Amino acid sequence: MPVPILQKHGGMKGFINSVRTTTLLPVVLSAALVTAQTNITPPANSYTPAQDVQLGREAAAQVRQELPILHDDEVTSYVQNLGRRLVTATPPELQHREFSYTFEVVNVREINAFALPGGPMFLNRGMIEAASTEGEVAGVMAHELSHVLLRHGTAQASKATKYEVGQVAGAILGSIIGGGWGQVISQGTQFGLGTAFLRYSREYEKEADIEGTHLMARAGYDPRDMANMFKTIEKQGGAGGPQWLSDHPNPGNRYDYIVQEAQVVRVANPVRDTRAFSQVKDHLKQLAPAPTTEQATKNGRRTTRGGGAGGGGESRPPTGRVSPPSGSYETYNEGNLFRVSVPSNWRELQDTNSVTFAPEGGYGSSNGQSVFTHGMEFGIARNESHDLQTATDELLDSLARGNPSLRRSSGYEQVTFADRRGLRAVLANRSEATGQDETIEVFTTQLQDGSLLYAIGVAPQKEFRDYRGVFDRVVSSVRAQG
Ligand SMILES: [Zn+2]
Repeated sequence: MPVPILQKHGGMKGFINSVRTTTLLPVVLSAALVTAQTNITPPANSYTPAQDVQLGREAAAQVRQELPILHDDEVTSYVQNLGRRLVTATPPELQHREFSYTFEVVNVREINAFALPGGPMFLNRGMIEAASTEGEVAGVMAHELSHVLLRHGTAQASKATKYEVGQVAGAILGSIIGGGWGQVISQGTQFGLGTAFLRYSREYEKEADIEGTHLMARAGYDPRDMANMFKTIEKQGGAGGPQWLSDHPNPGNRYDYIVQEAQVVRVANPVRDTRAFSQVKDHLKQLAPAPTTEQATKNGRRTTRGGGAGGGGESRPPTGRVSPPSGSYETYNEGNLFRVSVPSNWRELQDTNSVTFAPEGGYGSSNGQSVFTHGMEFGIARNESHDLQTATDELLDSLARGNPSLRRSSGYEQVTFADRRGLRAVLANRSEATGQDETIEVFTTQLQDGSLLYAIGVAPQKEFRDYRGVFDRVVSSVRAQG
């Protein structure tokens, strides 16, 4: 566990003072620079750099299959040049010979960017369009590159439950394109196995911001452009805010500490606007507008295991006509994470972020989203050292963001789930797929590493009486590792 930056420097207040000192003594500026710059060291990691490369390569191959890469020489070479300039600025102690850096533009309009372990970086076209200077694009790239150099993806995964390498690649993809079974978990990108790899902790965010500040300065950019770009992103707002923000949560005072660090690593003649940047922006205006990620991936394959577990049902909405839950139960082992017994007439629907058990007719697809009307979904959400109730609050918040008509209809009830202390909450929702009122039961418990194991039971309100006992029986059968 790396020491939080704030503690290392005795708090932000002391840090500000040291900055002031350097500006008062311009003669010893270069010596002061070295001592005042915040030192960032990579966190503990149980993966090898070669595994970073392998994971990133597999996930990148899937990204290229699922997301529309913009094949446009002008835009691509611009982004590549910018990326290389930043990579060249990598300090020696963060260089990894194995890493191989690629820079690609995804032709979608959301403001987002992501980088995979070992080097592949993807920038949404919307990010470039939203930037007002080259430095702002460089800022986002420097931040993403810092996650790669500090190996945050696999460091985060090291803290999570152990996964197979193949599963990890799928999980990374899941957290990029979203999806996830069930209307109630339509914001599934935020909760699920994938969160372990691309959704960073606030601690890692701050490290990437500070390291990104250093990279920018070394590459000749004004790091304050990075702070400005984050402001632009925050202003975008919208339902749930841009994906970039949920993957890269603001550790608090983000703008201020970047500007402070920027003063320490001040660049004499930073790159201001470049002609290349304006040319690329003009060029983008002439292309057909980028689709949303949802439009671009609507017809894409959503499941990554079991050869499309949704089968033919994926393109149809659920009929809602289902046979009652069988009295005989079948046991499923979900990787090495947990096992669960469900009615034998429920099918197992694997997704990258979660697994759903639902009867024929009780699952399908609506508006490009996988949904289910009857059954239970299970998943594990990465969580940062919260207590069970806070973590459960966050899960319910994320469900509410994806389902505007979702209402809590009970407080928390203490239950036993997977042989440990758990919580149960009941919610009411109007299903967007069927227009029917449905009752949702959420069960949560914490695993040893702090991540949240959840089960979400869904049934039409008028059938809930018949399902409540089934959900209880399924939940009481769960045995979890870790
Ligand atoms: Zn980040």
